[in-house]
Amino acid sequence: MFEQFDLDDKLVAATKSAGYKKPTSIQELVLPEAMAGKDVLASAPTGTGKTAAFLLPCLQHLLDYPRTKPGFPRVLILAPTRELATQIFEQAEQLSEFTSIKSGLITGGVNYGSHKEILTSTTDVLIATPGRLLEYIETEQFDAREIEILILDEADRMLDMGFADNINRIAGEARWRKQTFLLSATLAGAGIIRFSKDILNEPVFLES
Ligand code: AMP
Repeated sequence: MFEQFDLDDKLVAATKSAGYKKPTSIQELVLPEAMAGKDVLASAPTGTGKTAAFLLPCLQHLLDYPRTKPGFPRVLILAPTRELATQIFEQAEQLSEFTSIKSGLITGGVNYGSHKEILTSTTDVLIATPGRLLEYIETEQFDAREIEILILDEADRMLDMGFADNINRIAGEARWRKQTFLLSATLAGAGIIRFSKDILNEPVFLES
């Protein structure tokens, strides 16, 4: 039952409305640690419910600490592909259905004009692919310094696709964040652990 995690009633209602009957094993593992404010390094293949496992604690944080003034996004989720970013965006919209939290999506392959509104209006949760987002940071259209929680989803794939430098630069911009989650299909390769050392602060390791 999602009630066990101290989630706001609006979020529990959204899990019911999405048809989730009980938490998946990765959700059972990640939610308590993430809700306690810890950095998390988790192995979570697609299809395990990993997206809700990191979205729910982020949404809870935004409800616990409401925005006091308009500004830049407070949660940033980086994903390797437009398809995955779109799926995360759709789940963010679904799980924040009963709240006033706003999500935005920025990916390559979409014209620049349609991103302008996301960058200039108040978006709470921004889901993006690293390449296009870095362009906006470099041209000073986006300021990552207000990010409070950073999530790297499918980090192993992002490394394979050569995004390591981009992610390090974005994480450097988002240096005032309080919490970081890194999800990867596997933690087996040396690459992910080495990469995570610069990005995560005393993370808990969770394997589903
Ligand atoms: P993901 O692994 O995050 O890509 O999620 C795979 C699918 O499982 C998505 O369509 C989610 O909406 C769905 N899902 C996530 N959590 C649950 C749950 N606790 N019960 C049933 N379905 C879920």
